[in-house]
Amino acid sequence: MTGWAGLRLTVVGCSGSVPGPDSPASSYLVEADGFRVLLDLGSGAFGPLQRHVAAHQLDAIVLSHLHPDHCLDLTACLVALRHGPARRASRLPVIAPAGARERLAAAYEPTAWAPAAGGDKWAEVFEFAVPRDGELGPFTVSFARMNHPVPTYAVRLSHGGATLVYSGDTAASDELVALAAGADLLLCDAAGAGDEVGAGDEAAPAGLHLTARQAGEHAARAGAGRLMVTHVPPWGSRGHAAAEASTAFAGPVLAAQPGMIITL
Ligand SMILES: [Zn+2]
Repeated sequence: MTGWAGLRLTVVGCSGSVPGPDSPASSYLVEADGFRVLLDLGSGAFGPLQRHVAAHQLDAIVLSHLHPDHCLDLTACLVALRHGPARRASRLPVIAPAGARERLAAAYEPTAWAPAAGGDKWAEVFEFAVPRDGELGPFTVSFARMNHPVPTYAVRLSHGGATLVYSGDTAASDELVALAAGADLLLCDAAGAGDEVGAGDEAAPAGLHLTARQAGEHAARAGAGRLMVTHVPPWGSRGHAAAEASTAFAGPVLAAQPGMIITL
């Protein structure tokens, strides 16, 4: 018995835009019925991920978008899966925007994509697919395109009557409100979290991210049960982000912290 019927979220990394002194960039482990799906694998996240799960034990990876703070450590995952002692019986599914394989292969080594390099090591290890609504292991999954300069997908995962929605990166988005309708937990970009409560509206670049107050507004409009603000950069304040989000959302507000575990 696991003690929880729905799903479990583990914050592997939550630092916004760049790794911070106490947290890597974005990465969240979601588990249900022994199935493990990783949402994003940003800069530095592969290190602490191993406190929670070995790479070969993952069942799927979802990359919200191809900014380095959300995907770059897939290069480390590749190395672990090819050279680590434990191997998978099959390729690891990676659900990501189109072009992920080419982008990450180029980050890994310029020749990795060329046949002359001796085969496509990315295709040996990973099975790439673009986001599509349906089933993912025991989860019902759906996606929505967000308001960010590159193709970015928020994801909704449901299991056992519990629903988690992860925004990825986004500026103000009616699509996020619709995707998060009635979710038990909205894990939401709140990159604009200034040093003082009330300063956040100026702290998030337009068209890129939500302020913490906007994250609260999106949670309220969606009727979410709880809000977890995340993606606060090292130069911001998670505590202030939560306080500012609370000015717009009456429900419980948590600030993501590395290592935090929540069951729904
Ligand atoms: Zn981004």
